[in-house]
Amino acid sequence: MILIIGAGLSGLLTAYRLKQAGIPFKIIEARHRIGGRIHTVTGSQPIPVEMGATWFNDSHHNLLQLLDELGLDYFEQYMEGTVFYQPDVNAPVQSIQIPKQAPSYRISKGSSHLIEVLNSKISPDDIVFDAKVTKISFGENSVQVTADKTFQGTQVVLALPPKLWAKNITFEPTLPQQLIKIGKETHTWMEDSIKVALTYKMPFWQDKKQSGALFSNAGPMTELYDHCNHERSTYALCGFMSTSFKSLEAAARKQKVIEQLQNAFGTVATDFIDYHESIWSHEEHTFATSESLLFPHQNNGNSIFRTTYFDHRLFISSSESATEFAGYMDGAVAAGNRVGNEIIKKEMGTTR
Ligand SMILES: Cc1cc2nc3c(=O)[nH]c(=O)nc-3n(C[C@H](O)[C@H](O)[C@H](O)COP(=O)(O)OP(=O)(O)OC[C@H]3O[C@@H](n4cnc5c(N)ncnc54)[C@H](O)[C@@H]3O)c2cc1C
Repeated sequence: MILIIGAGLSGLLTAYRLKQAGIPFKIIEARHRIGGRIHTVTGSQPIPVEMGATWFNDSHHNLLQLLDELGLDYFEQYMEGTVFYQPDVNAPVQSIQIPKQAPSYRISKGSSHLIEVLNSKISPDDIVFDAKVTKISFGENSVQVTADKTFQGTQVVLALPPKLWAKNITFEPTLPQQLIKIGKETHTWMEDSIKVALTYKMPFWQDKKQSGALFSNAGPMTELYDHCNHERSTYALCGFMSTSFKSLEAAARKQKVIEQLQNAFGTVATDFIDYHESIWSHEEHTFATSESLLFPHQNNGNSIFRTTYFDHRLFISSSESATEFAGYMDGAVAAGNRVGNEIIKKEMGTTR
C-alpha cells in the first residue's frame, strides 16, 4: 500500500498513475477538499472563478499533455481591447494599448475541473479527508503515517510543498539534516498571494472595447483580468491584490477594491453579483512562516527532492520538486508523473 500525503494536482496524478497500474494506494489529505492550491469556486450564481492556479502557456508541455490525455479543453485568456494602467498612487488611471503577447490559457470549466476528472478516475475510498499528517515512521519493511489515526503502508509519497513537511511532520528516523534544511528553505509558490474575483450580470468592459485587464502599482488590485468562462456566458473579473492590504479588515479591503474598480471602469463595476477573496497565507495547509527570507522559487527544483530515501520508501513530490516550471501546475504534473513512474518501476520492474 502506497500512502500519498496530499490530494493536490501532484498527489492525485500519482494516485491515478498507480490506479492505472493496479497498485494499491491511499491519499491522506488535511483539508476537507481535493485540489490544494487549485480551487475554483462559485458564489450565489454558478459562475466559476479561480482562487488558485489559473494560467499556463505553450511551454507547459507536461500539463498540455495531461489535458490532451484526459480529453480536457482549454482556451485563450481574453485580452481584446484596451488595458487600464496606473503607474503610481498619485497618477490617474490611463487607458493604454499593449502589444499582442504570447497567449496564456485557462482550463475550460475551471482549473478544478482537471482535479475533479483525476478524482473521478480513483475511488472515493482511496482518499481520507481532514487528516493532517504529523508523523511518519519507517520500520524494517513498513511505513506508519500518523494523522488523527494511523495508516500502515510500504512506501510514502510527500505530495505537499517541502516547507510544509520539513516544518510540520516529524520523521522517525529523522530525515538527513541537509534535506530538512533545504525543505525549510524552499519557497512555496504563491503561498502568500491574495486572489480576488467579482462576478457580473454583463461583461460591461467588453461592450466598451476594454479587455477587462488592469495593472496598477497603487493597488489594492495589482493585476486584474477578464474571467469569463470559455463560452463567454458567465462574466467575471479576477486577479491579484497587493499583500500589503492583508492587515486591513475584510470589509475595508473589499471597499477599496470596489473604489479602485469604480475609478477605472465606472459605476457599472460596483454592480457585481459576488465578491470572492482568498488570502492564501491564512491557509495552514499551504502557507508556513519561513525562518529566513526566501526569494521566489528559492530551492524549487533542487535535485535533493528527486532522490528517494529510506531504501526507496520515501518519495518526494509536489510542484516544487520539478526540474522545470517548479511551483506551477506544469511542475505538479511533472512531479506526479515522475513519482508514479518510479513507484511503478520499482513495484513492477518495468519502465512506462
Ligand atoms: C493563488 C495562487 C495562484 C496560482 N496561480 C497559478 C497559475 O496561474 N498557473 C500555475 O501554473 N500555477 C499557479 N499556482 C500554483 C499551482 O497552484 C501549484 O503549482 C499546484 O497546484 C501545486 O500542486 P501540488 O500538488 O504540488 O501542491 P498543493 O496543491 O499545495 O497540494 C498539497 C496538498 O497537501 C495537503 N497537505 C498539506 N499539509 C498536509 C499534511 N500535513 N497532511 C496531509 N495533507 C496535507 C494540502 O491540503 C494540499 O491539498 C497558483 C497557486 C496559488 C496559491
